[in-house]
Amino acid sequence: MAEFDITQIRADFPVLSQKVYNKPLVYFDNGATTQKPRPVIDVVQRYYEKTNSSIHRGVHYLSDQATNEYEAARETVRRFINARESREIVFTSGTTGSLNLLSFSLGEKYISAGDEIIVSEMEHHANIVPWQMLCERKGAILKVIPFDDRGVLQMDMLPGLFTPRTRILSVAHISNTLGTINPIKEIIAMAHTRGVQVVIDAAQSIQHAAIDVQALDADYLVFSGHKIYGPTGIGVVYGKEKLLEELPPYQGGGDMVDVVTFEKTTYNELPYKFEAGTTNYIGAVGMAAALDYLTAIGMDRIAAYEQDLLHYGMQKLEEEGDIRLFGTAPDKASILSFHIGTIHMLDAGMIFDKMGIAVRVGTHCAQPVMQHFGITGTLRASLALYNTREEIDYLCKAIRQIKTMFA
Ligand code: PMP
Repeated sequence: MAEFDITQIRADFPVLSQKVYNKPLVYFDNGATTQKPRPVIDVVQRYYEKTNSSIHRGVHYLSDQATNEYEAARETVRRFINARESREIVFTSGTTGSLNLLSFSLGEKYISAGDEIIVSEMEHHANIVPWQMLCERKGAILKVIPFDDRGVLQMDMLPGLFTPRTRILSVAHISNTLGTINPIKEIIAMAHTRGVQVVIDAAQSIQHAAIDVQALDADYLVFSGHKIYGPTGIGVVYGKEKLLEELPPYQGGGDMVDVVTFEKTTYNELPYKFEAGTTNYIGAVGMAAALDYLTAIGMDRIAAYEQDLLHYGMQKLEEEGDIRLFGTAPDKASILSFHIGTIHMLDAGMIFDKMGIAVRVGTHCAQPVMQHFGITGTLRASLALYNTREEIDYLCKAIRQIKTMFA
């Protein structure tokens, strides 16, 4: 594609052309999940029509085809994040599955009573609760990097959080609520000088900008297929080969084993050691189609387009007046969390809905962020590559209508 052709892009997403309540759908709930372009839908359909067969097990034609496509999808993911080896890519059920895998396996390997794990105050529950569960199991301690009222991580506090007992630091690349882009390269470097391993939750960043795990020197990085225009139920753990080699498996079952006897079982090599049971191989192929779709457009073009949209949106919301924006970090992705005056978010959300606008209302699975601001939730418009300035204008029109109704 020579340039960012928004008309063509929108045409690629069948869902977008429909009406809800007889109004054109304006889909601003991309932080929760994204819509799927035609190539993803087609590949999944073709797979069920022509290729479906259990991978890695059969000697027959279809199984061979399915296995090849699954492994090709792994290679596509490797290329997309510039991992060194495809065996560093583990398929999971999603970011939540990935973080549970890592908290379990890292916990088994490295955590004992009194050890410390650091997360940030702006994490999604998926990057808090599995670590808390680990802390409960092992008697470890969870520490938190706070953020300031703009939603910027207080990096000056981080050195003081490290102690000789710190083992793991797990942090979001981009906050799903505030949109803050965290300085993960700096965080990784700081952790590494102290021998601490770092997990990056890229659930909200993988779809917005190019990620290079080698340039970041990331130990582990996780994301979900459904937030990057791919199918649901598929996700990724990237891990450095030598680190993954060290970790014990998470779940036991078929495929993750080498030799099984009742006396002793030995495990399969990477990445299969972490892929117990029948994986979501169709999801993996669908996700690879999504990554290819984005690569053809160009992640840099997508990032530039979305940044333009974000700044337009922030400016327009400000012009409306009486809007409280949560998350005003200088380095910010296309997520707009806000309140309209003192109007209850559920009332506003309902009217947005009736006007055909899909926004999210609530805590966005980040209750500590709400606690920071002393609020019960926000409205959230999270923008994707197919959203437009006209849709933002329409959001503002809806805001004016809401204000009039509640005046
Ligand atoms: N982390 C972040 C930052 C997220 O935004 C989300 C999804 N909202 C998750 C983790 C969990 O992702 P999933 O529900 O796809 O497992």
